[in-house]
Amino acid sequence: MEMAEGEGTTEENYDVDIATTASSLGGSGIFHIINDIVGFVLYMHQQIPSVLQDMSLEFDGLQTEFMDLEANLTQPQVKPLVRRKLVSRKREVKNEIKKLEKLMKTITSLRSALQLMVREAPGIQKVVLILGGSPLRPQKAYELLFTQHSDSLLGYEGDFAKSKAAEALSKKTIRALISVGAGSTSYPGPMRLFILVHAPPTLNLPQHFLPKRDFRYNRKFVPSKLRFKCRAQDNATNSPPTNDLIWSLTRRRKKMIFKIEDVTVYFPYDNIYPEQYEYMVELKRALDAKGHCLLEMPTGTGKTIALLSLITSYRLSRPDSPIKLVYCTRTVHEMEKTLGELKLLHDYQVRHLGTQAKILAIGLSSRKNLCVNTKVLAAENRDSVDAACRKRTASWVRALSTENPNVELCDYFENYEKAADNALLPPGVYTLEDLRAFGKNRGWCPYFLARHMVQFANVIVYSYQYLLDPKVAGIISKELQKESVVVFDEAHNIDNVCIEALSVSVRRVTLEGANRNLNKIRQEIDRFKATDAGRLRAEYNRLVEGLALRGDLSGSDQWLANPALPHDILKEAVPGNIRRAEHFVHVLRRLLQYLGVRLDTENVEKESPVSFVSSLNSQAGIEQKTLKFCYDRLQSLMLTLEITDTDEFLPIQTVCDFATLVGTYARGFSIIIEPYDERMPHIPDPILQLSCHDASLAIKPVFDRFQSVVITSGTLSPIDLYPRLLSFTPVVSRSFKMSMTRDCICPMVLTRGSDQLPVSTKFDMRSDPGVVRNYGKLLVEMVSIVPDGVVCFFVSYSYMDGIIATWNETGILKEIMQQKLVFIETQDVVETTLALDNYRRACDCGRGAVFFSVARGKVAEGIDFDRHYGRLVVMYGVPFQYTLSKILRARLEYLHDTFQIKEGDFLTFDALRQAAQCVGRVIRSKADYGMMIFADKRYSRHDKRSKLPGWILSHLRDAHLNLSTDMAIHIAREFLRKMAQPYDKAGTMGRKTLLTQEDLEKMAETGVQDMAY
Ligand code: SF4
Repeated sequence: MEMAEGEGTTEENYDVDIATTASSLGGSGIFHIINDIVGFVLYMHQQIPSVLQDMSLEFDGLQTEFMDLEANLTQPQVKPLVRRKLVSRKREVKNEIKKLEKLMKTITSLRSALQLMVREAPGIQKVVLILGGSPLRPQKAYELLFTQHSDSLLGYEGDFAKSKAAEALSKKTIRALISVGAGSTSYPGPMRLFILVHAPPTLNLPQHFLPKRDFRYNRKFVPSKLRFKCRAQDNATNSPPTNDLIWSLTRRRKKMIFKIEDVTVYFPYDNIYPEQYEYMVELKRALDAKGHCLLEMPTGTGKTIALLSLITSYRLSRPDSPIKLVYCTRTVHEMEKTLGELKLLHDYQVRHLGTQAKILAIGLSSRKNLCVNTKVLAAENRDSVDAACRKRTASWVRALSTENPNVELCDYFENYEKAADNALLPPGVYTLEDLRAFGKNRGWCPYFLARHMVQFANVIVYSYQYLLDPKVAGIISKELQKESVVVFDEAHNIDNVCIEALSVSVRRVTLEGANRNLNKIRQEIDRFKATDAGRLRAEYNRLVEGLALRGDLSGSDQWLANPALPHDILKEAVPGNIRRAEHFVHVLRRLLQYLGVRLDTENVEKESPVSFVSSLNSQAGIEQKTLKFCYDRLQSLMLTLEITDTDEFLPIQTVCDFATLVGTYARGFSIIIEPYDERMPHIPDPILQLSCHDASLAIKPVFDRFQSVVITSGTLSPIDLYPRLLSFTPVVSRSFKMSMTRDCICPMVLTRGSDQLPVSTKFDMRSDPGVVRNYGKLLVEMVSIVPDGVVCFFVSYSYMDGIIATWNETGILKEIMQQKLVFIETQDVVETTLALDNYRRACDCGRGAVFFSVARGKVAEGIDFDRHYGRLVVMYGVPFQYTLSKILRARLEYLHDTFQIKEGDFLTFDALRQAAQCVGRVIRSKADYGMMIFADKRYSRHDKRSKLPGWILSHLRDAHLNLSTDMAIHIAREFLRKMAQPYDKAGTMGRKTLLTQEDLEKMAETGVQDMAY
């Protein structure tokens, strides 16, 4: 089986688990599963020309064609030239029919043997399909384990008709096999297929079956394993087959335990890549030095498991130290993947060390991802789910429900509150899915439970915002200890995340919404004055003392914290002019009025927060200190007024967020007012943006608060720029290369088309018909030689739309579609998800497909195109940011003045990290292979190219730096041919790329630097 990131299987672990709701598969089910997998395996390993169903269709098609040809030839009026052609075609068709007939006969006899086997060998538990010269010298083996209920262990006497359930199960199995990379390695030349059945020794073999014998693989060989779990058998599936069966093979696989200086590292796989080991060594250095570090390691090298192994082992070696791991990921999918790896590691550590190795690890996400209340989950987006939850859990709603039984509460929250201090999670690793399951089981709300457990957890996995956005961090992460190790994974865009966390945009609709919100608030104030004036008075008194005295709010009453690092603000008293609720509403009205006037401008305006605040003061009479308190004052008022539908109050919250930020920061921000989007100057669309330019502002509290912060990604080049952008001094800063036994990455720089015209997306060239044509021709040629998926990245949506329209007019798109289906990313997430699903389905069918996508889009950031989903990625152009953007210009100025980072350097760095990110999608493990084409003449320049990560540059040969389309085609052909050859995965022949425990022990004597890779 191909190695995936942090690869390895265990005797108990199966590569693929197929669950079925049936209590048994039955003889017919087993037969059809084996039959379909045999067809799939033979086809994927290129032993038959198409899948079995297609073969019968092809056979029928050929026979029909043959009959048509015969009929045509009997026509007297057929001209001699045409007749000759028909005769020649008839001969060809006849030969093909003969070939197919022979193949189909073999397959039919194989199917009969399979049926016989199912009848004669009741209770089949395991079947092994072996491809190779002999069973003892397999090239590839697939083990199928069937966990049948004992009632079904009788001989099968049915008619083997294929039921819908069996068909669905077969499809599911094949999809799962594809997803673990089965069949992606091809072996040239014919191979034999052996089917071994694991049956009881009492079995009377039919005469023409091979004799019973013991069977054992050769020691180094690892088969792909599939397990079919029936409903009633879930508990039994973990037990290995009974001993009275004929063969029992798998050898015991051991995992690794090795030392890095004084730390004993537990690594849950049998081998480790050299770069993983080095990564751990550097990480340990940073932890020892109690400092921050920057580590760049290529994708697909098992970075996550190396990091988790080292940090958890480090913690185990220092039992008295309260080290916590806070692991930040960009997406929920990455969060689940990380927790999955941690689970494996944790199981291994507990097996070795017993209960002392037990930890509590949780994933934390929004209510939308953790809620289990079906009524609340029906809300359409995150804000509505939050609001729907608040409507059922706010303290005043719960108080009201004691008098009015019609008030709807959430049972999960009530049970959780009832359990009080007993609501705890037992040690273990909990993914979001596990948390939901646990919560449902106990009847406790998983969201509040997870939030409560953050203080006890040893490992917390959540999104960047929980640490970088002060509004969220102020609530969730305020109790984390200094000794925590914070990891930002896939952190190549961390500066942008920091900036976004402190930037706010206000449009006309925001102001309109905010005005409506104020009207509602005003009504509520009047209502309270009439019914419960004491509450408003109590709030006033509290505000005189300062916000810090508002006391601990219950979890369900908490909203987002102050957007601007709250500690300083909470200590001060709230200014007198906004303590009274109605005065505060007046202030906000004046603020909205002022912002409205500013949005009426006809020219682009840019100013600093200081000048904005002073003009606001002179024209609307609002002071800087008042602005600073707006956000917290609003929050306090909304709590006092018992407002639960917070999603409807987002506009006023945005305005207060803006006010607090502009009142707090004098440096590192600009206010930019644009009357329309520069790209569409005829449509008035005024926007006022408070734009943060200094990424270090949001991340500074994290660096200050925690002992070690690890910034890691596959793309951090040039690695010396990040410390400047984020304003910190790393104790370790390293970039690792990928150790490989074969050159599975083939980067190329395409500078011209076949007609020698240069290609580029430079502003003056991008619409040139020659460039557009050459870009199209490149793809037309490539889709005809590249099997499986091809992904194309464009520099922007508008450029992609333009180029696709031109390709459509000139017929290029049609030529592409003759080879592969085409799918397109759009700005609509749902549409794109659908397109991606269909793209994958098309790739699974075997002919591949083309996906058009955009750099900096969702797909470029978070979707992997590994294995057959991406064998080639084409980066059309250099994805520079829109350089006329006022925000970008202001940021560039700031970077230049404050950090002395030159404009050109930053723009190139930013464009190249995006390009590297796009092309990096194609390789997600070492067993994978893929080509990357940088289609723009500017990539051949050293100043651009040198900013690509080292692991790409090390494969970019000089001969591939200035290619035309025909040269690129030639190189691609050669590369694909080379990749189709079998290879030595462990690198035992030369460069060692998989280290065993013994290798590490030897290395410990000689030193890490002696590693040959
Ligand atoms: S309390 Fe929990 S389960 Fe209930 S609505 Fe809120 S998030 Fe959902």
